[in-house]
Amino acid sequence: MTLGNVIVTDIAPERFAADKALAHHETSHASQSALLGNDLYAFEWLFGLGVSAVFGQAKGGGGCLNPIEWAAGPGGGYETLCS
Ligand SMILES: [Zn+2]
Repeated sequence: MTLGNVIVTDIAPERFAADKALAHHETSHASQSALLGNDLYAFEWLFGLGVSAVFGQAKGGGGCLNPIEWAAGPGGGYETLCS
């Protein structure tokens, strides 16, 4: 999970650093948050999760129909969870 420039994860630091796709995905969220502002970013992310839940696609934390997750690129796991 990323809000602002803070990435919160339960993944060990060395494993996170080794997973370049995940690191790119999460840093993309930091850029999204900077561009949109934290409030709009959080609103859009929660909206995407809500839409995903309505359609039974609330997988992977953010949901398969969450445009914020797809725009962050591969590495967040959605490309396999949601296919
Ligand atoms: Zn993500």
